[in-house]
Amino acid sequence: MTRPKDLTPLERQRIPHVGTEHVQTRLLHAGAPQGALAGTVAPPTYHFSTVIYPSVAAYEAAHHDRFGRLIYGRVGSPTLWALEDALCELEGAHDAVLVPSGLAAIHLALASTLSAGDHVLVTDAVYPPVKQLCRNVLARWGIEVEFYDPIDMSALASRFKPHTRAVYAESPASHTLEIQDLPALCALAHARGARVIVDNTWATPLFQKPLALGADMVVHAGTKYLVGHSDAMMGVVLSSADMALQVRSHWSDTGSCMGPDDAALALRGLRTLDVRLQRHQANALRVSQWLEQRAEVARVFYPALASHPQHALWLRDFSGATGLLTFVPQPSAKTKVDAFADALQLFGIGASWGGFESLVLTALPQRSAAPLPWPAGQYAVRLHVGLEHVDDLLHDLDRAFEAWRRA
Ligand SMILES: *Cc1c(COP(=O)(O)O)cnc(C)c1O
Repeated sequence: MTRPKDLTPLERQRIPHVGTEHVQTRLLHAGAPQGALAGTVAPPTYHFSTVIYPSVAAYEAAHHDRFGRLIYGRVGSPTLWALEDALCELEGAHDAVLVPSGLAAIHLALASTLSAGDHVLVTDAVYPPVKQLCRNVLARWGIEVEFYDPIDMSALASRFKPHTRAVYAESPASHTLEIQDLPALCALAHARGARVIVDNTWATPLFQKPLALGADMVVHAGTKYLVGHSDAMMGVVLSSADMALQVRSHWSDTGSCMGPDDAALALRGLRTLDVRLQRHQANALRVSQWLEQRAEVARVFYPALASHPQHALWLRDFSGATGLLTFVPQPSAKTKVDAFADALQLFGIGASWGGFESLVLTALPQRSAAPLPWPAGQYAVRLHVGLEHVDDLLHDLDRAFEAWRRA
């Protein structure tokens, strides 16, 4: 596709895009077909496992490099390379490795960095299934996991051990929306020989670039905004030059490859990422400001609000805000919170987010090392603000607050 045929994926990533177009323009053309397929706006989706060669010599030559070319379905295809190229370019990464889910990407980033006997620091505000991964899998492999307060940098500094090999960050956190000081965190980690992995799902490469802020690896649940239509799962690990080989080798050794149809859907989602995010941002800002005025609401956590505790960090390190926010009601019984969610018609009750549609979840986040940013035991409401007309969303929320008062 965009890569010369005779280069392996790792070598191909070393060709930087030298154009001067804006990211909105690059989104439409990154990973576009070239060579025999030049001119097809949407590249064909390659379905295959086996590749047949005309001779033993040709087979052996092709398999000489295990990150090679078109040699076997598990190792990659033009469909996946197009998506890898586009994501590398957008995130400013050296290499992109695709896997079937966001959680698989997190696993790949951690497993390619850590060995038995290592210590890893993981933000306490992390996407909850990562805590299960740490406790059920990493611990069994002899990796010591410790959760840290995402905000308190001096507390983090005191948690490093001689065998700390990685710090895992998620900014903002997906339920509580804390923003981490990534440049400070990276400086701390690097001074102690630890790598930094950042989950950048909320911001996408359009609104935050953790590698430029000092991180070594970025993970995305592409399932969310990159795919953008709630119809496919994907994950990606994007790495800096000195982590690229380690991540791709681990991936190659473990066989977690992404299917071509989901890659094609993700590539299609990317083309509209900017226009979708602009609407998510405008709608979520309006909804969060409206919620701040409601008597039923105690706090709204949305980084673009001046009231957000790390608003200054958001202004410094991000160029936008997306559609996910959380509000904390005035102290009230769970039955009231549930009645509110049940009464909503445009916000579906469901996990995940990042599609075009609005969603609601009631949540009681758990912490082991850091305080919640709101009173313990208080249920919070997480909204994914979709692409509907914002007046319709506000009308729906207004009606749901009536159900809340009656409950
Ligand atoms: C959803 C999510 C994941 C996991 O992605 P899946 O594709 O569902 O496995 C990881 N991190 C964050 C922040 C998420 O929201």
